Amino acid sequence: MTAKLYHQNGCTQCDAAVLDCRANADGTFDILLDRTAIYPEGGGQLSDTGYIGPSRCTHAREEGGNIWHSCDRPLDIGQCVHVAADEAVRLDHTQQHTGEHMLSGLAHSMFGCTNVGFHMADDIVTVDFDKPLSAEQIAELELKVNEAIQRDEPTRTVTVTPEEYETIEIRKKAKGLQGDITVVYAGGVDSCTCCGTHCQSAGQVGVLKILSHMNYKGGVRIGFACGMRAVLSMQRDGARMDAIARRFSTSADKAVDAVIKQGDELAAMKREFKRRTDILLDYRAKELAEKAKLCGKTRAVVTMEEGLEANELGFLCEKLCACGNMVAVVLSQKDEMLSYRVARSADVSVSMRELIQAVNALFGGKGGGRDDSAQGSAKLNGSAKDSAEQLKAYVYRRLKG
Ligand SMILES: [Zn+2]
Repeated sequence: MTAKLYHQNGCTQCDAAVLDCRANADGTFDILLDRTAIYPEGGGQLSDTGYIGPSRCTHAREEGGNIWHSCDRPLDIGQCVHVAADEAVRLDHTQQHTGEHMLSGLAHSMFGCTNVGFHMADDIVTVDFDKPLSAEQIAELELKVNEAIQRDEPTRTVTVTPEEYETIEIRKKAKGLQGDITVVYAGGVDSCTCCGTHCQSAGQVGVLKILSHMNYKGGVRIGFACGMRAVLSMQRDGARMDAIARRFSTSADKAVDAVIKQGDELAAMKREFKRRTDILLDYRAKELAEKAKLCGKTRAVVTMEEGLEANELGFLCEKLCACGNMVAVVLSQKDEMLSYRVARSADVSVSMRELIQAVNALFGGKGGGRDDSAQGSAKLNGSAKDSAEQLKAYVYRRLKG
């Protein structure tokens, strides 16, 4: 069994003896020591990284009380080595882990929330609570955690017997524990059994910033960052806000209002654009209908229009077909993409579902629809003009029967 020195007052270095060294197929080595300062992944906390003598350790795991270190070079069994965990990595993981304690402890005491999930990665930390919280409650929670960080109360660990454990009141009790049980009182606002590493006092967490919150399984998932992670995150947010403010030629505190104002203006312009396009398409439909080709008993319009969106092709077809006794085939090319729409008046029986197949075949496109209306698109190498003339001839022949 490996002695776990990382629990002793933020220990990150020790001397140890190599008990075993096993080669893996991927070229790495699993090294077992009699004692270690390198924290193995567990309890929601990521593994430390560090050095064991000259060998780089990228991950550690615990198996039945033994801690196996995944390393890049072998060590001799029996050799004495110096073990050094990366201090910046340990501090970062310890800050996130202790911050999670404080967030969970206060969410429990303030709002009766139970922590039902925790996830720590190199780039994000999340905690799941079983109850939904409003944005105001989450902001209040963030303030209370940071007030507790400023009070800087020490973290205490207390070892109790299983009998004593049954009688004490703590936020989270693990079940099925045997032997002496370690209870952690973190930052003056949380208490639970835990195997992670903890800041020696709340102040060492530095700051806790809530970065996101979303409804999750009937409760809430909160993303947060502590210490330098929080500072870096705030720096990035500040830079983004400055960039937006510069784009709007305003100050950062007025940037949100500027974005909302521009969004409202854009929505109003889109409504006005749609109104004017509708008027334009009315005129265009009338113009086209007057020049429609009479094919047997049915009138036909086959036209290539410039710069129309797919929905506008539909509007133009509708307006043409509203004239009655009409088959409308409207195409529009934007760069390499050709869009087309076919439609008939209610008093025409030719199937548009069939007609669109002919258009697809002519342009090598894809599309389909109903008997009264269909649409499609094709990717072209050049202009669709010549093919459009062929299509016109085909539609006229088809309608003449
Ligand atoms: Zn803990």
